[in-house]
Amino acid sequence: MRLHAKWVLPIDAPPIENGVVEITGDTITAVGQLAGPNRDLGDVVFLPGLINAHCHFDYTQIAVPYRESFTEWIRDIVAEKAKQTPADYLAGIQAGMKLALHAGTTTVVNIECFPGLIPQLPASPLRVIWCPELIDLVKRPELPADGMGLSPHAPYTASAELYRRCAQSRRFITTHVAESIEEDEMFRQGRGKLYDAFRQRGRDMSDCGRIGPVELLHSYGVLGGNCLAAHANCLTAEDVRLLAETGTSVVHCPKTHRYFQRAPAPVAALLAAGVNVCLGTDSLASNDTLNMFAEMRELARGFPDLLPAQIVAMTTANAAKALNQSDRLGRIAEGSVADLIAVPMDGHADPYEAVVLAEKPVAFMMLNGCQI
Ligand SMILES: [Zn+2]
Repeated sequence: MRLHAKWVLPIDAPPIENGVVEITGDTITAVGQLAGPNRDLGDVVFLPGLINAHCHFDYTQIAVPYRESFTEWIRDIVAEKAKQTPADYLAGIQAGMKLALHAGTTTVVNIECFPGLIPQLPASPLRVIWCPELIDLVKRPELPADGMGLSPHAPYTASAELYRRCAQSRRFITTHVAESIEEDEMFRQGRGKLYDAFRQRGRDMSDCGRIGPVELLHSYGVLGGNCLAAHANCLTAEDVRLLAETGTSVVHCPKTHRYFQRAPAPVAALLAAGVNVCLGTDSLASNDTLNMFAEMRELARGFPDLLPAQIVAMTTANAAKALNQSDRLGRIAEGSVADLIAVPMDGHADPYEAVVLAEKPVAFMMLNGCQI
C-alpha cells in the first residue's frame, strides 16, 4: 500500500513535500517522493503516531480537584482510589485507552496499579507499554513478568532496595522524581508537608535531609538509558548534568504542570544539556484530556522559543528513544512499524506548525499497518 500526503514528516530527516509512504504488512518499507500509483490523503501532514510517555489509565474516572498542595492531592487521590471497585478500574482503563486512540496516540507508557486487570481488557490496537506501579511502604512487591516495564513509584514511596532491584533487572524503568517542591524539601532539607505526612505513616526517613531525589536515584543505580524520569521539575544544575551524563530521559507533562500551578519547568535547561525530553498527559486526575495535541499546544504556549519541529520530536522520536525502540517507533523510516497519523494542514504553511497547532481531528490513523 502506498499513501500520498502533501507533507510527510520522517522526524529525523527533513519534511518531504508530496511524500509517499509505502507500507507492507505492519512495516514501513519505503518513504520519499515515490513514483507510481498511490492513495492520496490530500492536504494533510503525515507523521508517526503520537507517543504519550506518561499516563495512568487507572485514574480516567477519578477527578481530584487541586486544593492546596501536592501533598493534599496525593492524600485525596489515595482516598478516591479506595472507593473504586475492580470493575470501575477496568472501565476507566478502557475509557482512557479509547480517549488516547481517538486523539491520534498510538503508543502509551501506562503506569498500572492493577496489572491483574490487564488480561481482562478487550483487545485494542493501542500499543501500551504496561509499567506496573511498585510501592513498598508496607510490603515487598514481586517484580512483574518480563515484557512489562517497571514503575517504582517515587523516592518517597519506593525504597532504595526496591529501586536497586529494578535497576539490576536492566528493564525499562519509569519513575516519578523531583515532581514537587515538597518532595525536594523532604529529601534535601528533611522537612515540609510531604516529609511530615510520610514520617507520620512510619516511613524510615533516614534518606532525608541529605541530597536531592535525582542524586538519590543515581546512588541506587537507577539513572541511565533504561530510565525515563517523570516530571523532573525541581532540578539543580547538578541534577540536569547527572540526567544528561547518564543518558536518562525525562517526560514533561505540560498540562498537569499547569494544573499544579508549578513554577516553569526546566525544559530549556534539559534540552540545552542534551537530555532526551518527551511529553505525557499524566492522568485525568490532574488533566482534562488525554490528548497529546493539547500537550504540544500547552508546551508551545509556555515555551515560545521552542521550534515546532522540536515539540513534534518530543511526542514521537524522543519518546521512542526513551523506550529504546528508535528502530521501530517514532519515525517514518524504512523498517519502522506502520503507526501513522495524518493531520489536516488547515491553512498552515509549515507542516510542523500544522501539527503543533492542529485544531481539527486526526484525518487518518494506522496502527501496526491497520487503518483505524
Ligand atoms: Zn504520574
